[in-house]
Amino acid sequence: MGNYLIKALAYKEQVRVFLVNAPNALNEAIKRHDVWPSAASCLGKIMTMGLFLGANLKGDEAVTVKYNAEGPIGSIVVDANANGDVRGYVQSNHINFVNNDGGLNEAMTLGNAGFLDVIKDLHLKDFFTSSVEATGNIANDFTKYYVESEQTPTLISLGTLIDVNNLAIINGGILIQLLPNATEEAINYIESKYDILKKMSSLLQSSSLEEILSMIFEDGEIVGRLDIKFSCPCNKDRFKEGLLTLSKKDLEEMINDNKPIETICHYCGEKYEFSVEELKEILKQKGSK
Ligand SMILES: [Zn+2]
Repeated sequence: MGNYLIKALAYKEQVRVFLVNAPNALNEAIKRHDVWPSAASCLGKIMTMGLFLGANLKGDEAVTVKYNAEGPIGSIVVDANANGDVRGYVQSNHINFVNNDGGLNEAMTLGNAGFLDVIKDLHLKDFFTSSVEATGNIANDFTKYYVESEQTPTLISLGTLIDVNNLAIINGGILIQLLPNATEEAINYIESKYDILKKMSSLLQSSSLEEILSMIFEDGEIVGRLDIKFSCPCNKDRFKEGLLTLSKKDLEEMINDNKPIETICHYCGEKYEFSVEELKEILKQKGSK
């Protein structure tokens, strides 16, 4: 079950609905970055939001979400694209706040006063960047983002469940947006479903995305589907390009240390080693430029 996203139109095509459940992508991030439970729950929710934003893009457009509410977890960074690829990491991975009832405490993990930045790469001259306050309530903060930056009234409900083995059983949610032709009636209808929508974790556990859609809307019509996977396009060449941007002096110092250097991809944790010979080669290339 899970690991895909559906796009649908509903309520006489006055409403756009995205639904996703993709625990595998979160589990890949948990494993790669050794993320502890309450931090994993927060990362999962930002990944879900990244997937919603990505699903609205076209071709090879991409989006980066940076969420930092100044709490112990620091920044949460997620990249996603229109093909269902997602990757992400947290600044501090070994964070776990648990309530007395055993539930994970996201508010303490996240903090309550910072910024949510959404950076879209639409292959135009500049990136499209917009920023709203991050208050530690991820769904509310993104609702504000959609209203303020995309002028789209949006309802978001997110659900993540991390089990005792620190693995995600579910990770996903629903995004409901009013299209420009939406009537007052549509708004009232969605509000009347709010009690169902709030229980996203149990809904995602018990029902498929298609079932959830039909629980909320009688006329939900699926118009798109994406398979979701954790995917990072990094490779050694990209890190070589990075080394090429260093000064000759820095490269010479590395070579004089006479030890290989290791570079790490923040997004996926993959390590790439450069031998002293390779560093000399990079210095030579730089010299010939
Ligand atoms: Zn990577």
